[in-house]
Amino acid sequence: MEINNCKKCDLWKTRKNPVPGEGDVNALTVFIGEAPGYWEDLMGRPFVGAAGKLLEEILEENGFSRKRVYITNVVKCRPPRNREPKPDEIEACSPYLDQQLNIIKPKIIVTLGRHSTIYLFSKAGLIFKSMRANQGKIYRVKLLGSPIYLIVSYHPAAALYNPKLRKYIEDSIRLTRDVERKLKNEVFNSEKH
Ligand code: URA
Ligand code: SF4
Repeated sequence: MEINNCKKCDLWKTRKNPVPGEGDVNALTVFIGEAPGYWEDLMGRPFVGAAGKLLEEILEENGFSRKRVYITNVVKCRPPRNREPKPDEIEACSPYLDQQLNIIKPKIIVTLGRHSTIYLFSKAGLIFKSMRANQGKIYRVKLLGSPIYLIVSYHPAAALYNPKLRKYIEDSIRLTRDVERKLKNEVFNSEKH
């Protein structure tokens, strides 16, 4: 993808490396964060800093590994000093996320934090209220022409500042695991007939 040479928004000027995303391009489940931070920018890989460690721990507790899911962000280059991405940056960068979703065709999307949730909600025609109201729930929506399960989670970085949030993230990932199991059982049962 042209992300490596992209200059569609000003973030290319301060990035060390773009962070396209990584994992299995045939994954059933895709996790979408906000934007790369310090370590991600340095390594060119998503979720490898402190928030990433926490995410990885919770994923592993639920039988997920980084290799068998796909992990990416709404914005592919680090905003300076880890500020939030601006609307024009999200607008410039989100076509890459759309392309990735078109290729992967996941059955489950987990949004991590406000920015990815707001972006996916608007694509799916849902109304975003607040993280507190929308997190921990499953939304059955049509996205890019296919039915998918959209699951909203707090961002793991939020749990670094407020450890009480960790259990909500754990609940969302457990829910994700249960939906994956259900989908796999459906495939298994239909193959038996
Ligand atoms: N936070 C994010 O939203 N994405 C990353 O890749 C790392 C931290
Ligand atoms: Fe291009 Fe996205 Fe990086 Fe902006 S953030 S330069 S749109 S890849």
